[in-house]
Amino acid sequence: MTAPLLLRMHPEDNVAIVANEGGLPAGTVIEAGCVGAGLILREKVPQGHKVSLQPIEAGQAVRRYQVPIAYALQQIEPGRWVHECLLRMPAACSLEGLPLASAIRPALEPLQGHTFEGYVNADGSVGTRNLLAITTTVQCVAGVVDIAADRIRRELLPLYPQVDGVVALEHSYGCGVAIDAPGAEIPIRTLRHISLNPNFGGEVMVVSLGCEKLQPERLLPAGSIPMVAAGQTTLHAVCLQDAHHIGFASMIDDIVLSARPHLERLNARRRQTVPASALVVGVQCGGSDALSGVTANPAVGALADLLVRAGATVMFSENTEVRDAVDQLTARAASPEVAQAIVRELAWYDQYLHRGQVDRSANTTPGNKAGGLSNIVEKAMGSIVKSGSAAISHVLPPGEKLRPDQRGLVFAATPASDFICGTLQLAAGMNLHVFTTGRGTPYGLQACPVVKVATRTDLARRWHDLMDVNAGRIADGQISVEQAGRELFDLLLEVASGKRTWAEHWKLHNALVLFNPAPIT
Ligand code: CA
Repeated sequence: MTAPLLLRMHPEDNVAIVANEGGLPAGTVIEAGCVGAGLILREKVPQGHKVSLQPIEAGQAVRRYQVPIAYALQQIEPGRWVHECLLRMPAACSLEGLPLASAIRPALEPLQGHTFEGYVNADGSVGTRNLLAITTTVQCVAGVVDIAADRIRRELLPLYPQVDGVVALEHSYGCGVAIDAPGAEIPIRTLRHISLNPNFGGEVMVVSLGCEKLQPERLLPAGSIPMVAAGQTTLHAVCLQDAHHIGFASMIDDIVLSARPHLERLNARRRQTVPASALVVGVQCGGSDALSGVTANPAVGALADLLVRAGATVMFSENTEVRDAVDQLTARAASPEVAQAIVRELAWYDQYLHRGQVDRSANTTPGNKAGGLSNIVEKAMGSIVKSGSAAISHVLPPGEKLRPDQRGLVFAATPASDFICGTLQLAAGMNLHVFTTGRGTPYGLQACPVVKVATRTDLARRWHDLMDVNAGRIADGQISVEQAGRELFDLLLEVASGKRTWAEHWKLHNALVLFNPAPIT
């Protein structure tokens, strides 16, 4: 057996987690060293779970990441497994009186000379893939669009070899919804902005039903899409209820025919060398465990710093997983206005959860807990490290799109749900996605490459053809967090230039999932 390894995040922490695969048995002797005085485990402790390093009195704070992640419900002796049943979760910190832009980090040293091969769009954004997207106004058309998209792939794509694929932007919205209710603007603008994702080359192709609430003109009002690039003067949508459609085949023929001019233009594009600053990277985690905050997420934090230094844009998100660190975020905001925008988004989300009679603690899953995360506070502390150390320069409400001047580290306020977060980051203009997982999530997006990072070597070994990077090597002592961040940075430039991720290799992708806080009718 390998030597017992406990990982403590900060010298003031009174717990550390077990890094060893399979956990450690009762009686294991931990030598004095990196976690302070030596100790003997009083019981078996699973991998990722916490061990008390000192006596913790009832009511005393259990500290990890230098913050109280919980309070002890009873006395806990050194060497005990500090599991969820021994702990009380702290109350959420108030959104009043937070530090505003009080701890702005000095600007990070610029990192120059890094480039990738991307597709430059008319609006100045850059695609990492060259995809034909078919925008849909309503779920009713999804079945027909699916069949048409299949036919385009089989019959037309071989004629347009520069085009990487066809993406049908299908969703559950569009009708049967209270379309004017507060909050309905979120799914609508999300769909609008996804159609304009840099990976779609400014080509907007729309299929509608005809009778739906979300009419094409409402989804894409005049001026919202680059008509000039598309060579159009008005929005042309294939409408399935149009009188000239006689039978199913005519609908399919019409969609396939209307794809041709878009494919012609996309096919004429070529990759060209662009600076790394053209990357818009969305980061998120899913299926987290206690190692997420020790290996993969800190590696992504190091990556985020490199990207910001290179002038790129990095989005971090997941409201419920940053809520307990709101004071750290508002302090790191580049200005009081940015700090207030963070508070505004999180206050709105608190109210949204309150309406559903829950709070942020509804986030943690049975898998998170089995992986060693006792509560949302502990999960959040491990989650926010993905944002690295740069000042937070912008805040983006859900479904909004980044303006070209909104660079650097951005808090894109989204739910933590993997697919909703990914969908909203696509709307924001993400051209590359980094996703960390500890429990294991076979996640992929059709519109954008997803680089998946495993928190544990065991997961990376078992899911060897799903995980792109093994950050578990950090816990194994093979590489440092900084080395892992640098490796990710280099890999991202390759993926942005066309190297396929495992998800792309298998054509593995999840559905778009809209965030709709408004009522359904
Ligand atoms: Ca997530």
